[in-house]
Amino acid sequence: MEPHHAPRHARKRGGRWLLPALVGSACAVFLLCLLPHLMPTASASGQPAASPAPAESAPDSGTPGISVNWEPSPSPAPEEQEEAPWYLRLVNLENRLSQDFTVELAQVDGGQFDARAAEALSQMLADMEAQGLSPMVCSSFRTWEDQETLHQNKIGRLLEEGYSQEAAEAEASRWVVPAGASEHQLGLAADIVASQYQILEEEQENTPEQQWLMAHCQEYGFILRYPKDKTEVTGVGYEPWHYRYVGVEAAQEIMAQGICLEEYLGQ
Ligand SMILES: [Zn+2]
Repeated sequence: MEPHHAPRHARKRGGRWLLPALVGSACAVFLLCLLPHLMPTASASGQPAASPAPAESAPDSGTPGISVNWEPSPSPAPEEQEEAPWYLRLVNLENRLSQDFTVELAQVDGGQFDARAAEALSQMLADMEAQGLSPMVCSSFRTWEDQETLHQNKIGRLLEEGYSQEAAEAEASRWVVPAGASEHQLGLAADIVASQYQILEEEQENTPEQQWLMAHCQEYGFILRYPKDKTEVTGVGYEPWHYRYVGVEAAQEIMAQGICLEEYLGQ
């Protein structure tokens, strides 16, 4: 009897323990199966937990940091462009000065110049003279009226040469732009020629004075403003005598890269 009961008892007993054990392990398996589904949810929500994520989720989970970084960059850029420093102000046919523009001027050899850049111009001329050269400033600061007179005179000469009024105005603007469109009005441009050769034509580039200026003007913050290969960009003919002050840093870069001011300013 006992042997019969014993196994039955044992089996029953075993059965009683087996059920909770099975349920327990089923729960464990269920949890294990759920785990991978739970994990991504946790890492996607930006929790620091997960293991495979760091490299990829660092930028993602850093989203708050990135959005903080993004904000400053778009806003200063346009402000910087609008508030270009005085020495980088672009003046041309598309970017004209208003008639009430004023600037503090200082006396220089051959005229007046923006007081903040006058010393750079004087130093450049003095260094040229110290090397036996004879530069001459034939035009520097011009008033609105000066510029308008020059422009009209140029048109007049072209009309005498047989140009139509329309053609004369267009051609005149390539050499003597109308009032408001000349950076001579800024007080930052100087036409410098050789004393021995004062004609404003392409051959001016062969004088020792121009050779020196083209090689050294950037050291004083000046650039050859209307280069031969940039007439399409500047809208002005080649002028191997017109130098513009833009500050040493910009001048070094512009002359080294062989670009013009419009290109340097991205316009
Ligand atoms: Zn000029």
